Amino acid sequence: MSIKLRGVSTRDEIIAILSEENPDKISEILDEAYKVKIENIGSKVYLRGLIELSNICIKNCLYCGIRLDNKNVHRYELSEKQVLDGAEFALKAGYGSLVLQAGERTSPKYTSYVTDLVKKIKLISDGKLGITLSLGEQTIETYREWFEAGAHRYLLRIESSDPKLYSKIHPNNNLHSWKRRVQAIKDLITTGYQTGTGVMIGLPYQTVENLADDLLFIKNIGVHMVGMGPYLKHSETPLGQLGVNSTNLSMTLKMVAALRLLMPRINIAATTAMQVLDSFGRERAILAGANIIMPNMTITEVREDYQIYENKPGINDDADLSKSKLEENLSKMGIEIGWNEWGDSRAFQG
Ligand code: SAH
Ligand code: SF4
Repeated sequence: MSIKLRGVSTRDEIIAILSEENPDKISEILDEAYKVKIENIGSKVYLRGLIELSNICIKNCLYCGIRLDNKNVHRYELSEKQVLDGAEFALKAGYGSLVLQAGERTSPKYTSYVTDLVKKIKLISDGKLGITLSLGEQTIETYREWFEAGAHRYLLRIESSDPKLYSKIHPNNNLHSWKRRVQAIKDLITTGYQTGTGVMIGLPYQTVENLADDLLFIKNIGVHMVGMGPYLKHSETPLGQLGVNSTNLSMTLKMVAALRLLMPRINIAATTAMQVLDSFGRERAILAGANIIMPNMTITEVREDYQIYENKPGINDDADLSKSKLEENLSKMGIEIGWNEWGDSRAFQG
């Protein structure tokens, strides 16, 4: 019996896709997902310049290189000028949008710093730059404040939709509660953000069934965007010390394709972690149904300090070089870029 691709909806159908090992059949799955993308949202790739605002974090996720307890990390926070320079770069480069990402912090001083940054980015870009935030779990009031300041998208991965697996990859305390994270995703949707979530693929203890359930979770919670990527080990973390690094690009590509078949109109990011497994990893994800890329614009001086996983690509590059390398890769593969466009999720526009 052949695998169901178009109109895939059940757990068993998703498991069948993710379990496929035959290279020809995998190509068929990826090609079909690409076709579904073109039919529903077109072929363009939209860019969001990524600024890694700070690696200071109050949390201790067991997999992450910048977790609080990793004392080998040199901590930094970008100044207002450094962030606004980044925004100027994004504007000139034609990126259309930027993403501010950081470790998690909730102090009033920090949350108002972010509010100010968002307002100023809007101001200097004459409202032209779209702003996505990826700053962890916050109160609904903070989410509202940032939304009103001008941010309109937010990324908060659930990491794993299985509370049991979640508890194996996080410390077991209130700061790392699965339920709290789900609530935060719902709060973001309620606040009016285009909301994105996602998971890590290839985590220790993770099964194909877990991954199928992840995709169903993403569909059921009703997000508009997804960023999923391979789990990559970082030796200075408790999970990294287990030494497991089972991720392969093929499973990641099957996940992207299955998600596109399940949710034809959402935005799906080809994430940087994919590039670690294959220098064309992101471009291959685009050909499997993804439609967003987040080129790194972080200033070279601090790139090395923002290593959530090992072997992060391009840590010696600057924003210009990241841009030209990406453009070259995309054009080699005949992929068109939506310059100066926001590229909002069609799932959000209804
Ligand atoms: N602090 C914020 C945003 C920065 S971390 C947050 O946690 O939401 C952004 C993402 O990096 C996380 O959601 C996680 O999925 C990913 N990440 C962290 N460590 C990783 C690792 N070792 N391998 C792959 N992805 C990782
Ligand atoms: Fe902090 Fe995010 Fe890393 Fe967790 S994943 S330790 S919240 S930066």
